[in-house]
Formats: sequence, C-alpha cells, structure tokens
Amino acid sequence: MSSEANAAMSGAVERIREIVGERGRISEPDRLEPYLVEWRGLYRGATPLLVRPADTSEVAAVVAICAETGIGLVPQGGNTGLCGGAIPSPGGDQIVLSLERMTRVRDIDAANFTMTVDAGCVLADVQRAAADEDRYFPLSLAAEGSCRIGGNISTNAGGINVLRYGVMRHLVLGLEVVLPDGRIWNGLRTLRKNTFGYDLKQLFIGAEGTLGIITGAVLELFPPPRSIATAWLALRDLDACVELLAAARDAAGDMLVAFELMPGTGLEFVLEHIPQTRDPLARPHIWYALLELAGSGTGDSAQQKIEAVLEGAMANGIVVDGVIATSGVQRAELWKLRESMSEAQKKQGASIKHDIAVPVAALPEFMRAATDAVEARLPGIRVVAFGHAGDGNVHFNLSQPPGMDRIAFLERWQEFNRIVHDIVIGFGGSISAEHGVGLLKRHELAHYAHPLELELMRRLKQALDPQGIMNPGKVL
Ligand code: FAD
Ligand code: ZN
Repeated sequence: MSSEANAAMSGAVERIREIVGERGRISEPDRLEPYLVEWRGLYRGATPLLVRPADTSEVAAVVAICAETGIGLVPQGGNTGLCGGAIPSPGGDQIVLSLERMTRVRDIDAANFTMTVDAGCVLADVQRAAADEDRYFPLSLAAEGSCRIGGNISTNAGGINVLRYGVMRHLVLGLEVVLPDGRIWNGLRTLRKNTFGYDLKQLFIGAEGTLGIITGAVLELFPPPRSIATAWLALRDLDACVELLAAARDAAGDMLVAFELMPGTGLEFVLEHIPQTRDPLARPHIWYALLELAGSGTGDSAQQKIEAVLEGAMANGIVVDGVIATSGVQRAELWKLRESMSEAQKKQGASIKHDIAVPVAALPEFMRAATDAVEARLPGIRVVAFGHAGDGNVHFNLSQPPGMDRIAFLERWQEFNRIVHDIVIGFGGSISAEHGVGLLKRHELAHYAHPLELELMRRLKQALDPQGIMNPGKVL
C-alpha cells in the first residue's frame, strides 16, 4: 500500500472501531487466523481489521465509511465457501466484515410459511427454528453446522434437496441489503407473487458479496416431512444411474427429495478414514446411489414407495443390491457415508476439484469422457466423482496418484481444470454448479462465459458498485 493509502486505511479503521465497539472488532493475529484462511487452505489473506457488526445499521455505517474512503470490504459468513470468495487479499488493504454476531430469528410466520432472519444465522439453527414451529426449511448441505444464511444466499447454495425444493434462489422471498454506498435497501417482502418491476433481490442472490452486503432475508418454509425413507443401492453400472433416477421420479414423483451418486473408490476412502463407518452391503460395487423419499402426509407412504422403487429396479437389473434404512440411526449411518466424502478424500492426499453440472441424461457419457481424458494425461490419477446426480451436478474430483509429490500434483490444477471444463462445456454444462466463482474460477469465468454475458455482468457491477469496493477481485 502507498503511504497515502496507509493513512486512509488507519483513519477509516479508527472510525470503524468506534462504531462497532470492543465486541465488534478483532485485530489480534491469533484471533484473526480462522477468518483469513479458506476451508481447504488454498487461500490465505491479511487484514488490518475484522468487523463484526451487531445489526444492520452498524453494517451500513461501516460500509458508508468504506465508500467514503474507497476501501475494499469483504463480507464473510461461515467461511465454508470453497472458492476463496470470503478471503481478503494478501496485501492487507481490505477490511473483512463478518455477519457472525447477527444471528437473530426476527420472525416466524407459520401460517404464511415464512421466516425472517438475520443473515448471520447458521443454517442448522434456521432449520431448527423452523422445526420448532412445525415447519421445514429444506436447504441442507454437509457444512450446515457452520455456514450462514447470508453465505448460502450469496453463493446460491445447492445441497441435497434441490431435486424437490430447488436451490437457495428458489427459497428466498425477500432480502435486506446494505448497498455499496451505505444505504439500506429493505426488500423484506413475504410474498410469493410480485411482478411489480424488476425482481431486485435476484441480483444479490449468487453475487458472492460483489454487489452489496445481505443483512436479512425472508425464507420460504414448507410442511415438515412426516414420513422419510432412505435407501443405499448398488447400481449395475453408471448408465443405471440415469435409468434409476427416471424410474424413481416416475414412481415417487415429488416424494423423491434426494438422489446422490457415490463411486466405489469413494466408499473405500470413507471406510478407511472415517471412524464408525461400515459397508452396508455384503460386497463392494462400482457405483452406488443414495435415495431419499419424503412425504408430508402421515403413515408409512415413503417406506412403501421406496420398497416399490427398489423392487422394480432390482427386477429389471438397474440395481444389483441395496438396503433400506429401518431406523433413524441407520438412515444417519447411510448419510454419513455420503457426507464424509470430502473429509475422507482430504486424507488420500492432494485433490484437484471440479464442481460441474451437465444435463442429467448426459452424466454417464460426460463421466466416461472426462475420466478417459484425465487418466490418459496422468496414469495413476484417481477419479472420485460424487454428488447430486439428480441435479446433474457432480463433484468431479481427482485424487493424486499414490506416492506422487503433493505440490507437484497441485501445480497441475489449471491444466486438469482446462481438460475437464472443456468437456463439460462440450456437453452444454456449467463449470460452477453450486460453489460459485470466488477467486478460484475467476479466470475460468473470463475464459468460458459468453462475451455478451460478461459485458452484462460488468455493467451491473459498475451500476451498483462504481467504486469497486464490494469484495474486490472476486467473480469478475
Ligand atoms: P462464506 O464462505 O463465508 O462466503 C461465501 C461467499 O459469499 C463469499 O464470496 C462471501 O464474500 C459472500 N458472503 C457471505 N456472506 C455474505 C453476506 N451476508 N452478504 C454478501 N455476501 C456474503 N455448497 C453447496 O452449495 N452445496 C453443498 O452440498 C455443499 N457442501 C459442502 C460441504 C462441505 C464439507 C463444505 C466445507 C462446503 C460445502 N459447500 C456446499 C460450500 C459452502 O458450504 C456453501 O457455499 C455455503 O453456502 C457458504 O456459506 P458461508 O456462510 O460459509 O459463506
Ligand atoms: Zn455438493
């Protein structure tokens, strides 16, 4: 930083410290550490100050000072994002604003099936608060114990229930946002229908903090599932995945809430590294699907439906073996196998990741093409592709060949991204299905996005944040 910039920063830091008070700031290096490193350790930043405002008006006051002085501001929720979006630059020239003290459930309207929350609420707390009122908030992902609603909205999070309930974008009815000039936009409407001009909230959903800071949200709630049934099925082969999905949707309709795919290698990693896990089937298979059905009515409907799905799929050979959970404990055990995938893969050495989506029916062909291409480039590389197959979204991850140097493998990140992403684009897919762009895929966005789309994105950014102080250097 120049001495001028340094002086501007010290002045701004001093004024902000006064606004947020003792509890609202952190600047000691050891306490700052967890806010400055991304979940996988791929990015590390620096900051002279982390602010933790108590409410929306404090957020607005902080943003106003940054706008006045031109200082960059990085919003942060639970810091579980996997693209470096919530990490400040290493230069120490940006202030980090954490929403972690804004955790109030402002209102639950059970009759309207809505709840209004502070953006700092942890996702699991939102789910619980809804359940306490006999309502259901369906967004669910493995990081739900730490990610925060503002982060979920800013990344347009997906997760395991998208098949039935949609992504975060479909679950938000209203927003409160502090704009880059410090003004507060109150769009906290609790309506399902509203055609009164542009739908402004959609601009901020999935914007990864580059257009403003989300401070509050109205979320849509649903009747809680009363009967749930979960099955772990071994597939004949990869093509059987698409056949099973179609059969299950035909048989169960809206009751099918989750359809996850896991490879045999992935299960091996989990069994090896994650305590208290066991293979639910008698012998290993190449591909597995984890299905969940849920019904809001009473009775055993989900259980009966899933039995019918399994029976049909076994009869025509799509599924070669399987179990249906008979208790809540067993259901949790099955989900643990799926949800431990990322953790288990970490223990197998370095991995290069892809968060891609293709049209559902093209998934097997994509996986074969991409697997052949990466194996040809580096013999011994281990493809561990798993995820939300029901949405055509898989985490096409590559574990290093055993024994290869970790750093040498990670240095080839861009090279493998290009191979896989070219194939994804060839299938009409997306190279960022649910984790966003952040820092990680900024160059990929510039490379793959249509020039007209890029131009429109840049014009929106310019219109809302002409000084470029909101999460500088991310996404665009
Ligand atoms: P952060 O990481 O803090 O921030 C993410 C981005 O949003 C950053 O750019 C940040 O600047 C911005 N931001 C945060 N809060 C605000 C705000 N209030 N206003 C404006 N901008 C803001 N994601 C999925 O979609 N599906 C999954 O299945 C899934 N599984 C995961 C499993 C694991 C084990 C882990 C570690 C992560 C997983 N993720 C998944 C990724 C991550 O959990 C989601 O992206 C989540 O939505 C991020 O929320 P967060 O609060 O941690 O956001
Ligand atoms: Zn995922």
